[in-house]
Amino acid sequence: ETIGANLDRTVARFGDREALVEVASGRRWTYAEFDEDVNRLARGLLARGIEKGDRVGIWAPNCAEWVITQYATAKIGAILVNVNPAYRTHELRFVVEQSGLRLLISATEFKTSNYRAMIDEIGFADAVYIGEESFSELSNRGDKYDLSGIALAFDDPINIQYTSGTTGFPKGATLSHHNILNNGYFVGELINYTEHDRVCLPVPLYHCFGMVMGNLAATSHGACIVLPAPGFDPAATLAAVGQEKVTSLYGVPTMFIAELGLPDFAGYDLSTLRTGIMAGSPCPVEVMKRVVAEMNMSEVAICYGMTETSPVSTMTRPDDNLARRTETVGRVMPHLESKVVDPDTGRPLPHGEPGELCTRGYSVMLGYWDQPDATAEAIDTARWMHTGDLATMDAEGYVNIVGRIKDLVIRGGENVYPREVEEFLYTHPDIADVQVIGVPDPKYGEELMAWIVMRPGTTPLTADDVRAYSAGKLSHYKIPRYVHVVDGFPMTVTGKVRKVEMREQAATILD
Ligand code: ATP
Ligand code: MG
Repeated sequence: ETIGANLDRTVARFGDREALVEVASGRRWTYAEFDEDVNRLARGLLARGIEKGDRVGIWAPNCAEWVITQYATAKIGAILVNVNPAYRTHELRFVVEQSGLRLLISATEFKTSNYRAMIDEIGFADAVYIGEESFSELSNRGDKYDLSGIALAFDDPINIQYTSGTTGFPKGATLSHHNILNNGYFVGELINYTEHDRVCLPVPLYHCFGMVMGNLAATSHGACIVLPAPGFDPAATLAAVGQEKVTSLYGVPTMFIAELGLPDFAGYDLSTLRTGIMAGSPCPVEVMKRVVAEMNMSEVAICYGMTETSPVSTMTRPDDNLARRTETVGRVMPHLESKVVDPDTGRPLPHGEPGELCTRGYSVMLGYWDQPDATAEAIDTARWMHTGDLATMDAEGYVNIVGRIKDLVIRGGENVYPREVEEFLYTHPDIADVQVIGVPDPKYGEELMAWIVMRPGTTPLTADDVRAYSAGKLSHYKIPRYVHVVDGFPMTVTGKVRKVEMREQAATILD
């Protein structure tokens, strides 16, 4: 099935129900109204000369037009190129050229980004701006065009999503209707979405977390998408939950940490919440427990995945026990396969032994856009996607992510998984957030360095304090040698900590 056909079915069943709410502006759409706007934009794109297979970029913060553009491009088989709202000129130029953009749908400005100035600077002429004449004109000029005549296939490419760039330069994962519609649908199935659910998305739409696990999971079940604010705002998010009677709330771990830390947290009405998703980076057990207990999200799930796999490959289920729902990333999704292999030999490893996690099935991307060598490196000849993540799997199939291969620290011949050390340090009452990296060391090859964000009103910890706290509880070689107190970490907009950048900075800090 294509995304357009799936939307048409939802509209036929739930036309009068709410599809989309933009809380900041108060604008709202029923499914029938949403579909009308989607079709109007789809016809406008045809009138503008956009054809199946053409790349159409979207570079804007979360807004209703983002969602409308997603479905309009899918209806005509154009390839939507998600452009990261935090990009600067050189990254924009890269994406525009690498994907061969025909048209860019943008916003004029957002926070510190002046999109129009950057688009002008790279000399890209075919841009329209949401909220301006150019966008409404695009939507209003396709009256005589017909959407029914376009031959769409479920395995056509319809989306290029650049990876977060956590470990290096972003790569353009090319995805089909089949890839992302099914993934969104199964996420919605496992979270038991119905037309009565209202799904709040403070996560960026440009990332698969928003557009697949959010939008497609919701629209394939007749649920309503609630956009709390253009960028992440913890107070606006919790206010939207109460105001819009939200049943499901999404976030990367740092978003939930910020919401739980709001000074007036207890004053928000979270009584309608039932479920939600935490994903995107390692989900600290303590944070998951608080979300379950204090945010009324008793059924909250953890998802694990990557852009290249549409994204979700494993997920916890509401009926898993609490330990498994907070300490693992669940089991493989329906119709997908996972295995853990020795990264050097490719051989499957016994249960419990850490190795590289691999995923196979309908969700694996078509490839990296215009990068056949990178594609061949990531997807082997048997169609297994090699994730670059280290994981263990138990006998019942529950998966634990222990870290990225690139972040593994080898100290004096011992493998140290920074994640384990981070989880331990989270138990310290004065530590709000912590990240552990390896830094070069002449004697041991690498030493551990902990970057710590202190809780307000506490005294900064020293390396000696951390050593004293860890002694007897953590093997000696896992105890960080260096401690660096910070206000925050270098992050991607998708809320991932950029350890590459931390390692670069550490070199100067320790010099
Ligand atoms: P790049 O590939 O450009 O370096 P990236 O891998 O961060 O960036 P994404 O595709 O957005 O780009 O993120 C996928 C990665 O996020 C996974 O490979 C994994 O390392 C991490 N991740 C996602 N979900 C989880 C989770 N629940 N627990 C731990 N890690 C997770
Ligand atoms: Mg990646």
